[in-house]
Formats: sequence, C-alpha cells, structure tokens
Amino acid sequence: MPKSLCLALVGYGKMGKMLEQIAVGRGHEIKARIDLREPGAVQNIDVGILTDVDVCLEFTEPSSAVDNILRLVELGKPVVTGTTGWYQHLDEVKAFVVEKNGALLYASNFSPGIHIFQRIVAEAMRLVNHFEHYDVSIHETHHRHKKDAPSGTASTIARIILDKIERKTSVIEGNYEGRVPDSALQVSSSRCGEIPGTHSVTIDSSADTITLTHTARNREGFALGAVMAAEWLYSKRGFFTMEDVFHDFESL
Ligand code: NAD
Repeated sequence: MPKSLCLALVGYGKMGKMLEQIAVGRGHEIKARIDLREPGAVQNIDVGILTDVDVCLEFTEPSSAVDNILRLVELGKPVVTGTTGWYQHLDEVKAFVVEKNGALLYASNFSPGIHIFQRIVAEAMRLVNHFEHYDVSIHETHHRHKKDAPSGTASTIARIILDKIERKTSVIEGNYEGRVPDSALQVSSSRCGEIPGTHSVTIDSSADTITLTHTARNREGFALGAVMAAEWLYSKRGFFTMEDVFHDFESL
C-alpha cells in the first residue's frame, strides 16, 4: 500500500465526493474540503487549513481552475487537477510551476480504462493510416451539466488521430453544416441526462464500419486514477500528466 496521505479537496462537487470515497478507501485522510457553494466545505483556499496537507486534488470548473492552481502552487502544495476547459493557459501555468519549483499533475481523464482505450486507438490509427479508403470521426456524450465541449478527452483523442493519420490535418468541432473536408477530423458532442462520459471513434469505409467505444459506468475510474496520481506526485517536483504515472506503472 502507498504511504497514507493528508489530502485537500478543492472542489467538493460530484468528483470531490467520489474522490473522498476512493481516497479514504485507500487509507488516506481528507484534511480539507474547499468549495464555493457546497455545505460542509470551507469557501476559500487559505494557508491555515492546508498546513498538514500533502497533496491538493483540484476538481472545480474551467473559470476557477487557473486561479486555484496558481494559489496552491504559490503555497508550495503539490496539485493534481482534473478540471477541464482551461488548457489555453497551460503554457503560463507550466511556466509558473517551473519558476516556483512546484508540483502539478493534470489530466483530462484520469481513468486507467481511458488510458488503455487511447493506446488501442493509437494502434488502430497506425493501421488505418495505411488504408486510404477509411474515414475517421469522434463522438463524445456527457451529462447535461458539463460546462465545456468537446470534452478534454475527445480533444486528446483527436490529437492522437492527427498524429497517426497523415491525411487528417485539422479538427472540426461541434455541429458542422456542409460537407466535412476529407482532411478534417470531425469531433462532435452531445449532452444528455447524467451520462458520466462515453467516447467513440468511428472508422468507416463504403464496405464496413469499426467502432471503438469507451464507456465510463460512473466516476469511480476517474477518482481512482486521480488518487493514484496523488500517491505518485506527493514527493515530486515538476509538471506532469497522467502519461507519466501510467508510464511508471507499466514499467513496474
Ligand atoms: P461539479 O459541478 O459537480 O463540482 C464542481 C464544484 O467546484 C462545485 O461544487 C463548485 O461549487 C466548485 N467550485 C467552483 N469554483 C470553485 C472555486 N474557485 N473554489 C472552490 N470550489 C469551486 O463538477 P464535477 O463533476 O465534480 O467536475 C469538476 C471538474 O472535473 C469539471 O471540470 C469536469 O469536467 C472535470 N472532470 C474531470 C475528470 C477527469 O478525469 N479529469 C473526470 C470527471 C470530471
């Protein structure tokens, strides 16, 4: 078992509560719950409540993530963040982490299952690259409360596909009217009910269709991966992604 950690939950919404359940189940202690709106949580990040905290788990919303991360890094706390929709600020956040000799690990999807899925997609795309008559698209479905689209995971999968298929050179997002250029990869999204997250890659020709789908059954996989990331990060300094964690895991 990894060392027992003192954790802070920054964001005590759906993910915060699932993180608590998984972290406690793995022998960790929740020292602080910080949330602007949730009962039972304190509203602000302050030095006092973070004194004994080893790692902060930041799962809030796109407009809050950057300020939260910078504040926590300034306070010298290692941060695992799963909030999506702020990646246009990645370079400035990375520069800040390096300048402060801080520790940050971010991922658009912490689920070990999605990591396996992305590896499968990458290998499938390596093959599809040799067969010009196949087209490819991505569709993702999430619950209707999700604030960003497409999902961070769909964008990551899109980058994998562009990297592997030479004839795909751009991405078209959202509801697109008109003919999709052959060189474009369409990434579409739908929002419905309480779906935790489904990502499908369709590979299609006039003769057949191959569909690769990852379906999250609940938030458990995300939370497990994020707690594993905290266990991995707590004694390190630097700027990391979940790829670094899985890489070490696979080489054990
Ligand atoms: P949620 O809406 O249930 O909870 C977010 C909470 O953050 C809310 O309770 C809100 O009050 C709080 N919050 C907002 N701004 C805050 C701030 N400045 N300080 C403190 N609290 C603040 O959402 P959720 O389902 O828990 O998801 C949270 C984020 O995590 C979203 O961006 C979502 O896309 C992302 N997510 C990532 C993964 C992953 O694996 N990376 C998995 C699931 C969700």
